[in-house]
Amino acid sequence: MKDFRYLTDVSTLALDKEICVGCGLCETVCPHGVMRLNGKKAEIIDPDGCMECGACDTNCPVQAVRVTPGVGCAAYIIQTWIRGKENASCGDVNCC
Ligand code: SF4
Ligand code: SF4
Repeated sequence: MKDFRYLTDVSTLALDKEICVGCGLCETVCPHGVMRLNGKKAEIIDPDGCMECGACDTNCPVQAVRVTPGVGCAAYIIQTWIRGKENASCGDVNCC
């Protein structure tokens, strides 16, 4: 999903291809098209599209894909839509 962007290179999303069994569930449940099955292994095709919802982590049968849910700042994301990325902040002075 190209309309959705969080901060660049901060997602906690991680994939261990060695233990991936290629079930495709991560691709199926991801709401932003971040994961894709390539042959018999998953791959991360759009890491900055990850909103850290945790759906892939929850549904992966072998814990090959891991993410820390809830780290993504929803306030920041919404502000980038409304005010543009240059003027967005999460509103918490103790945060980013
Ligand atoms: S945490 Fe959510 S948005 Fe990120 S890759 Fe997994 S399912 Fe997709
Ligand atoms: S859900 Fe897990 S095992 Fe299935 S394709 Fe994705 S990473 Fe691989």
